[in-house]
Amino acid sequence: MVNQEDKFKKVISHAKEYGYVFQSSEIYDGLSAVYDYGQNGVELKNNIRDYWWKAMVQMHENIVGLDAAIFMHPTTWKASGHVDAFSDPLIDNKDSKKRYKADVLIEDYVAKLEAKIEKEVKKATKRFGDAFNKEEFISTNPRVVGYKQKGEAILKRLGKSLENEDLADVKALIEELEITDPLTGSRNWTDVKQFNLMFGTKLGASAETAMDLYLRPETAQGIFVNFLNVQKSGRLKIPFGIAQTGKAFRNEIVARQFIFRMREFEQMEMQFFVKPGTQTEWYEKWKKTRLKWHLSLGLGAENYRFHDHEKLAHYADAATDIEFKFPFGFKELEGIHSRTDFDLSQHEKFSGKKLQYFDHEENKSYVPYVVETSIGLDRMFLAVLSNSLQEEELENGTSRTVLKLPAVLAPTKAAILPLVKKDGLPEIAHKIFEDLKWDFNVAYDEKDAIGRRYRRQDAAGTPFCITVDHDTLEDNTVTIRHRDTMEQKRVKIEALREIIKKEVDVKTWLLKM
Ligand code: ATP
Repeated sequence: MVNQEDKFKKVISHAKEYGYVFQSSEIYDGLSAVYDYGQNGVELKNNIRDYWWKAMVQMHENIVGLDAAIFMHPTTWKASGHVDAFSDPLIDNKDSKKRYKADVLIEDYVAKLEAKIEKEVKKATKRFGDAFNKEEFISTNPRVVGYKQKGEAILKRLGKSLENEDLADVKALIEELEITDPLTGSRNWTDVKQFNLMFGTKLGASAETAMDLYLRPETAQGIFVNFLNVQKSGRLKIPFGIAQTGKAFRNEIVARQFIFRMREFEQMEMQFFVKPGTQTEWYEKWKKTRLKWHLSLGLGAENYRFHDHEKLAHYADAATDIEFKFPFGFKELEGIHSRTDFDLSQHEKFSGKKLQYFDHEENKSYVPYVVETSIGLDRMFLAVLSNSLQEEELENGTSRTVLKLPAVLAPTKAAILPLVKKDGLPEIAHKIFEDLKWDFNVAYDEKDAIGRRYRRQDAAGTPFCITVDHDTLEDNTVTIRHRDTMEQKRVKIEALREIIKKEVDVKTWLLKM
């Protein structure tokens, strides 16, 4: 059994070895928490974005897309509250000189309690066998109940202190729990301070006329400031949604988790505008819909959970995270927020322009309420990649590394492999490539023995290998090998398109929602 830390290291090195993710500017020793996507990474990322866009925009009569600029008028960020309140509570360790998010240190402490509960459950499952009742065990076993209550009490106190801006109490909590620097074990902490996460930059040539700008820390505000443009030009009726995907920038302090927490990352957000008073209903609906989208990819229902927020952001009246079981534990993958009329009202106030919707049925104007779904594309990439990477023991005693990506997301759908580099086999293989490339991203590979080529495609996550051999010359058939089952079938060349399509088609996968 590999432990989780080793598993995570494997994911990172595999991502590099197979052209998924590289450290940015690596030849200059890299830039911390900034990453580049390689030849396979860019395809996987595009496929995840497309899968989201199809499900969230094109499958709905009343949701449209937008592509707003990264630069926005600086007043945007005053109105949104980011200038005043987009900060993290930080704490430094005086011995190691390392900086941490104070709330994360505390949350990690609680995660350790959760891990202890999981361990107790595992032990008891073994001990009691079939007679084991997990629910009952969790609610009655004194040790488990103790861990649970302790964790809940800590999170409640943390939520309250953050809400009241009581940073002294956050530090007190760290001291009471005897939390140590994860790297050095030191307990020599500074006070907790707030630190704004927005990157500043300048627009304009001369020093006198240059304007201070921020790189957007979220894509949502581009949607809010365009709310009326889109609604009027699209003649949209409430309820309706506006979606966009794009880069966001945050000067993250704790940046040691590969592409989980980046300084430049991509978001996929949808703001759904609703009649005031109906937001709870929509919030519940989007919670369900988004979870279904995740489940459709087959990464395992046990790897997701909702985490409702104790502390609500300044703009929200309800908020939850969809958490995913990453190699380092359950962490936020997506946020679903009921943002009220906060953003539009603020932009009305700061711009002096009305941002209201005239409701013909009600015969009155109002500022709509908003329910947001917001997911990090890079985090989703990490969820898919880490979940798919598997080390498999084979019947013949050997093992293989296989990347069992959902076929709909796989960068390359099929690799076409001539058995040998002669006798006309490469020519036929190239012809198959030329034919299939119109419908799928396919690859051609003639290097090395066929077994090694299969292994390489398994590790890169390619769902199908198509092998052209000497029988092909006789009867126009090829073998098609399935990545997950390693099963090989002999089929007609003309049948390939349909076989591949059945497994990689977006429709097949989205219908599982
Ligand atoms: P966290 O608590 O992990 O910092 P957040 O609550 O600040 O995240 P939101 O502002 O709700 O995140 O952003 C929505 C989504 O954007 C998150 O669910 C996450 O998937 C993604 N995201 C946020 N910050 C980052 C980052 N630094 N790197 C990669 N993805 C991010």
